[in-house]
Amino acid sequence: MANITDFYGELVFNKKVMRERLSSDTYEKLISTIQNGSPLDDSIAENIAHAMKEWAISNGATHFTHWFQPQRGGTAEKHDSFISYSNDNEIIERFSGKQLIQSEPDASSFPSGGIRSTFEARGYTAWDPTSPAFLLETGKTKTLVIPSVFLSWTGEVLDLKTPYLRSVRSLNDACIKLQRMLGNRMARRITVNCGPEQEYFVVSKKLYDTRPDLRICGRTLFGAMPSKGQQMEDHYFGAIPEKMTKFMEKLDHELYRRGIPAKTRHNEVSPNQFELALLFEDANLAIDHNLQVMNVMKGVAEEFGFVVLLHEKPYAGVNGSGKHVNWSISDNTGANYLEPSASPLKNINFLITLGALMLGVDRFGGLLRACVADAGNDHRLGANEAPPAIMSIYLGEYLTNLIDQIENTDNLNEQTMANINLGVRNLPKISKDYSDRNRTSPIAFTGNKFEFRAVGSSQNPSEAVTTLNQLCTYGLFIIEKRMLQNKDMDIRENALRVLKEVFKETRRIRFEGNGYSDSWQKEGVNLGLPNAKNTPAALPSYLTKDVIELMEGTHVLTERELKAKVDIKLETYIKTKEIEYKTATNMARTLILPALTKQINLTASAAANMKNSGIPSKALEEEAKTFENLYIKIKEKTNELEDILVKEQKDMLSKAKYYADKAEKALEALRIFVDNAEELVANEFWPMAKYQELLTIL
Ligand code: ADP
Ligand code: MG
Repeated sequence: MANITDFYGELVFNKKVMRERLSSDTYEKLISTIQNGSPLDDSIAENIAHAMKEWAISNGATHFTHWFQPQRGGTAEKHDSFISYSNDNEIIERFSGKQLIQSEPDASSFPSGGIRSTFEARGYTAWDPTSPAFLLETGKTKTLVIPSVFLSWTGEVLDLKTPYLRSVRSLNDACIKLQRMLGNRMARRITVNCGPEQEYFVVSKKLYDTRPDLRICGRTLFGAMPSKGQQMEDHYFGAIPEKMTKFMEKLDHELYRRGIPAKTRHNEVSPNQFELALLFEDANLAIDHNLQVMNVMKGVAEEFGFVVLLHEKPYAGVNGSGKHVNWSISDNTGANYLEPSASPLKNINFLITLGALMLGVDRFGGLLRACVADAGNDHRLGANEAPPAIMSIYLGEYLTNLIDQIENTDNLNEQTMANINLGVRNLPKISKDYSDRNRTSPIAFTGNKFEFRAVGSSQNPSEAVTTLNQLCTYGLFIIEKRMLQNKDMDIRENALRVLKEVFKETRRIRFEGNGYSDSWQKEGVNLGLPNAKNTPAALPSYLTKDVIELMEGTHVLTERELKAKVDIKLETYIKTKEIEYKTATNMARTLILPALTKQINLTASAAANMKNSGIPSKALEEEAKTFENLYIKIKEKTNELEDILVKEQKDMLSKAKYYADKAEKALEALRIFVDNAEELVANEFWPMAKYQELLTIL
C-alpha cells in the first residue's frame, strides 16, 4: 500500500488543486469566501466553474450534480452532463458559473411539509463553497459533485444544511460578542468541530437476500434469539475477522481518496457490529463526510459480498447502532473553548461554554430529544437501550466537584478564583483517565469536547449539531445578559458570579449515575425533565413557544419552516411504520404460513401413517395440533395488524401516536408466534436465514 498522503484527497477539488488551477486572485477570493462564510463573488464563479470542469473531465467525469441533504434524511443528487451547444450549434462541454452557484433540480417529490406545493414544484440548489466539490465514483463512472443547500424559490428551507449553516452564524455572533466582553481581541471567527463515530452492522449478502424485512426495512421484524448472541461479550475490541479487516482496509483507502480522515476502526458490542470514527474537523465538513461515509461503506461492502446495515436496530436482543457526535467550538487562534488551560481567562471561557450548554440542555431537553427522534432511533432511546430518552449531562466526578465548589463559594476572592483555576487546569489529567466514564449518559463531557450519544446510526448528524449550536447560543446569550447587569465588576468575578447561579439552576440535568436504572426514570420525571418514549411523543416539543422563539431568535428556522419540519418528520415516521407493517403481514402470509403448512403436512402425514399402520402416535398428533395452533394464531395476528392499518385517524400526529402504541403492540404480538414457529419448524422449511447465521457468519 502506498503512503496515505500520496492518494489522500485525490478525488477532491481541494486547496492544492485550486492553487494549481485557479489564478492567484481567484484563489485568494475563494479562500476568503470559505473562511468568512461570505457569499461567493459572481465575478470569480465563472473561473472556478471552468477550472472545476477541466479538473473533473481530466479525471474522467462527464456529468455534474448538485448534492444536497433533504429533510427526510440521506442525500439527493440529480446528474446533468456538461454538454451544451456552442454559438455554432456544435456540442461542447461547458460548466458555467451560474450552473455552479445555482441549479434547479426537478425535486418536486421531496417532502417539504407543504412549503413548496407541487405546482410550484421548484426548489433550487446552490453551492456551499465551504464544502469542496469532489468526484463521485460509481464503478467506472465519475461525476463532479457540488455540495449544495436546497431552498424554495421564496428562500425557505428545504434541507438540513441551511439551518446548520445558520446556526453556526448565530453561535459565532454570540461567542465573539462575549469574547469582546472578556477582553479577547484576537478571536474573530468561531468554528464548530465535530468528530462522528459511526456504528454499523455487516451481514453476508447471501443471507440478507433471504430476508425481505432486512431488504425493505433495513431491520429484522422477526427472528428468534440465537443461542449465542452478545452474552459472551467477546466481540467488543476483540480481534477483527480477516475478511472484515480487508473490508475495513479497502473502506479506509476509499475514504482517504475522498479526503475523509478515517481514524479508528474496531469491533462493537454486538456480533458483526463495528465502528468507524473520523478525525474531527469543521462540523460542516464532518457532516458532509459522514454522509459520504455511509454511502461509500455500502459500495465497498458489495465487493466483499457484504451488506452494511445502518439501521439503529437491525436485530432485537443485541445492541443497536448509534452515532456518537463529538462537539466542541474553537476560534481562529486555534483555542478550543472546551479545553481547560493554564490561563485563568481561558478557563473562565471554558466554564462559560460549559455553563452555556448546561443552560441550553436544561431549558431545551425536549428539543434535543426531538432532533434525534425517528422510527429507527425509537428502538434505542427510551427503549431498553443506550442512551435513555431523558437528556442529562455527565461531567465526571472531578468536574462535578469543581462545579459544586463554585456553586457553594460565598466569597469570590483572589484565593478562591486561583483554586478554581487550578482545578480546571488539572482537569485534562483527570479526564484522560477514562475508567470512570459513564456510558449510559446521552451527553458526556470527555476531556475537551462534549459527546452526544443519542444520534441514530443512520441519521444525518446535522440536526444534532445544529441543536447543540443553538443550545449553546442560547446559554451564551443568557450569560452575557446577566453579566451586563454588573458591568463595572471585575470581569472574572462577574463571570463566576453568573456561573454560580447557572450551575445552581441547571443542577437537575447533571446526572452521574446509571441512566438505564428505573430510579433515574422516576427521578427524571420528578425533576421535570422530558422523557419522550417515542417519535410522536417527542416531536410536539418542536412547536412549543420556547422552541419557536429559539428557532427564530437564532435565525435557524421560521415558525412556518419549523411546522413544515414537524410535518415531514411525522410523515416519514408514518410511512416507515406502514412499510414495516406491510412487510410483516406480507412475510407472514407468503413465507411463514406456507412454511407452517409444509410442516403441518409432514407432521400430520406422519401421524396418519402411524395410525394407518396400527400404531397411532399421540405425540405426533399433538405436534400437528401445535403447528396448527401456531398457524391459526399467526393468521389471526396478521389480520389484526392489517385491521389497524386501515383505521382512519383525524390527523398525522394522531395516526403516528396510534401506530406507536396499538400497531407496535400488534406487530409484537405477531412476532411472538412467528418466532415461536421459527424455533419449532424444520430447518429445511424455514424460508429465511436465522439470527444465529445473520450474526455469526461473515
Ligand atoms: P473516544 O474515547 O470516545 O473514542 P476519542 O478521543 O477517540 O474518544 O475521540 C472520539 C471522536 O471524538 C473522534 O472522532 C475524535 O476525532 C473526536 N474529537 C476529539 N477531540 C475533539 C474535539 N475537540 N472536538 C470534536 N471532536 C473531537
Ligand atoms: Mg466516543
